[in-house]
Amino acid sequence: MSKVLVIGAGGVSSVCVHKMAQSAAGNAGIFSEIHLASRTRSKCDAIAASVKERTGQVVQTYEIDAEEVPALTRLIKQIEPKLVVNLALPYQDLPIMDACLAAGVSYLDTANYEPKDQAKFEYSWQWDYHDRFKQAGLMALLGSGFDPGVTSVFAMWLRKHRLKTIRQLDILDCNGGDHGQAFATNFNPEINIREVTAPARHWEGGQFVETPAMSKKVAFEFEGVGPKNMYMMYHEELESLARFIPELERARFWMTFGDAYITHLTVLQNVGMTRIDPVMYQGKEIVPLQFLAAVLPKPETLGPTTKGKTNIGDIATGEALDGSGEKTFYIYNICDHEDAYAETGNQAISYTTGVPAMIGAAMMLTGAWSGEGVFNMEQMDPDPFMDMLNTQGLPWQVKELPGPVEF
Ligand code: NDP
Repeated sequence: MSKVLVIGAGGVSSVCVHKMAQSAAGNAGIFSEIHLASRTRSKCDAIAASVKERTGQVVQTYEIDAEEVPALTRLIKQIEPKLVVNLALPYQDLPIMDACLAAGVSYLDTANYEPKDQAKFEYSWQWDYHDRFKQAGLMALLGSGFDPGVTSVFAMWLRKHRLKTIRQLDILDCNGGDHGQAFATNFNPEINIREVTAPARHWEGGQFVETPAMSKKVAFEFEGVGPKNMYMMYHEELESLARFIPELERARFWMTFGDAYITHLTVLQNVGMTRIDPVMYQGKEIVPLQFLAAVLPKPETLGPTTKGKTNIGDIATGEALDGSGEKTFYIYNICDHEDAYAETGNQAISYTTGVPAMIGAAMMLTGAWSGEGVFNMEQMDPDPFMDMLNTQGLPWQVKELPGPVEF
C-alpha cells in the first residue's frame, strides 16, 4: 500500500494512472493513493474524471511547473509519496530528480534527459546522479517504458533463460496503426521529430557508428501487422544495452514509417519547420519545431480513430545456455490500438509506454526491484517484470528463428 505522485498528464500518464487504479488487476492494492500533477491542471482533472468513471478510484490533482525545483520540492513534501513517476517530457528529468533528492523520495521515468537547445539525448547526465541517490538511500529507475524499457528487459530475459551471451541484437519497433490523419506523431511531436531526424547510430565493434538519418531501410514481415519498411535509427537503450551486455558485438534499433510520414517529414525538414533554434517572428522568438508541435494533432486525440496493431520486440543471437551452439530468438509483444483505447481511452503507443511505467513503479513499491542509486532496466531481475507484462495487458511471446538476421 503506497502513495505515488505522477507528473505529466499526456497520453502515457493517462494510461499509467488508469492502470494504477485498476483494482480488478490487483493494482489498486499497490498504489493505494494516486496523486497527479502537471503544468495544465485541467488535463489532470480530465484523467482523474475518466479514472473515477472506469475504476471508481479517486485521483488527486495539482498544477505544477516541474522545472521550478523549489515549488516541486514543496509539493512532493506536502504529498509525501513513496515514489515520483515522471511522465512529463525528457526536459524535466533533471529538475524532477533534483526535487526528489531535496524531498527524499525515489524516482522513475520513461525517457532519458534531453537539453532543450541540443537535439541530443544520453544517459550521462542522469548517471551522474548515482552517488547522490545512493548517499540519500534512494532509488532512481531510468527508462521504464516500452523502448526504452521492455526492450531491455526482453534482452535480459533472453540472456537469463535462453542465451549465455548476446552477440547481436536488433530491436524492431513497428506501429502498424492507422490514425486516419495526413501527418501526426504517436507521442509528443517535438520529442518524436527530434528523435527521428537525428543521425542514426548503432553499436558495432565496441563503439557507436553514425550514419545519416533514415539512410538504412529494410522490409520486414511483422506478425499481426504484415510487411513494413523499417529504418535504422538511434535509440537510447542502445547506450545502456552496450554498457550492461559487454559481449555485445552489434546492436541496432529499427522503427517502421510509412511513405506518407517520410514524405511529410522530408518537406517539413526542407522548409526549416523542424529547426530547434529560435527564429524571430513578428518581433517574438519562436522555435519552429515547437510551433509545428502546436499545430499537429495531439497524440492523445488519436485514440478514437486509430486502428491496427503495434509489434515491438528484440531479435538476439548468441551462445545458447544449454550448450547447443549459436541460437537466434525473437521475443515480442503485439498490442491492439482499439483494445488499448477501449480499456484506457488511449491508443497503443501511450498504452505500451504507460503500462511498463506502472509495472516499473510496482516493482519499486513492492520491493521486487530495489537498490540505492540510479539504475537502468538491464540491472534488474527481468522475471517479475515479465510476469506482470503478461497479466497487465502486454503479453509477450518468444520463438526461435532459423539463424541470425540477414539484414
Ligand atoms: P505528452 O506531450 O502527451 O505529455 C507530456 C505531459 O507533460 C503534458 O501533460 C505536459 O503538460 C507535461 N509537461 C510538459 N512540461 C511540463 C512541465 N514543465 N511541468 C509539468 N508538466 C509538464 O507526452 P507523452 O505522454 O506522449 O509522453 C510522456 C513521456 O513519455 C515523454 O517523456 C516521452 O518521451 C516518453 N515516452 C517514452 C516511450 C518509451 O517507450 N520509453 C514512448 C513514448 C513516450 P501540458 O499538458 O501542459 O503540455
